[in-house]
Amino acid sequence: MELRIDGVTKSYGHGPDSKLILEETWLKIQEREFVSIVGPSGCGKSTLLMMMAGLLAPTGGQVMLGNEPVDGPPFGLSVVFQDYSRSLFPWMTVRRNLSMAAAAYKLPKPEVEARVDHALAAVGLAGKGAMYPWQMSGGMQQRVAIARALVVEPKVMLMDEPFAAVDAQTRADLEDLVLRVRDEYRVTVAFVTHDIDEAVYLGDRVLVLAADPGRVVADISVGLPDPREQIATKLEPRFAALRAEVYRLVMRPTTPAVA
Ligand code: ADP
Ligand code: MG
Repeated sequence: MELRIDGVTKSYGHGPDSKLILEETWLKIQEREFVSIVGPSGCGKSTLLMMMAGLLAPTGGQVMLGNEPVDGPPFGLSVVFQDYSRSLFPWMTVRRNLSMAAAAYKLPKPEVEARVDHALAAVGLAGKGAMYPWQMSGGMQQRVAIARALVVEPKVMLMDEPFAAVDAQTRADLEDLVLRVRDEYRVTVAFVTHDIDEAVYLGDRVLVLAADPGRVVADISVGLPDPREQIATKLEPRFAALRAEVYRLVMRPTTPAVA
């Protein structure tokens, strides 16, 4: 489903203390597109994503999911946060964590069970439903969080620096996992990261944000061949060119060309 940001602005605070966090922003994320969002810490990436999720109200403008305005967490939209240890319930088994996510959808129990099994298999955790999150490594817990997002068979998945807390090898595995899952579940993804290589590697598009106030300074079509592959893709001359361009935009978004 298409996700649109129609003239959205965001300020925090009121009156003289009010601070503009996001300048008026217009964006369209196409159905099944994978859009990476990068920018320096504090530029408003999470704020933008939370407005897309209906968890935070814009100050101006509107978020649209398909033809519906988003004014609360919509059906068919899942969010995956960085902090898996706080987003899973430690006293519930993995299976229970997943089936809980479907509660609001009022599905018949056998349907929920089937979806849980399917989602666990999709993230490489088939048969692990009886474990507790605290028995698992960080990488496995984040797979559980992804599986939980998939149980509702989302049209849109929003991910906020989901792999920032795991080691490099696990991170690469999770990146490839998320690309596979995107294809299998035919989901539209907005993926926030501060890692430029990750943004280019994963994205069909990369949005670059700048800070003070937050704003989109570039919207870049990646155009690397699919499927992506950790070694081959990163050896592409285009990969190197894109990462250099994004790096420059993140570091010095407003530097004018030298006269
Ligand atoms: P990012 O995810 O890019 O690091 P955030 O969206 O978390 O950035 O934050 C953008 C800016 O908004 C930061 O300057 C942050 O301090 C500020 N901010 C975030 N949440 C609040 C809030 N609830 N009240 C006031 N300011 C906030
Ligand atoms: Mg953030």
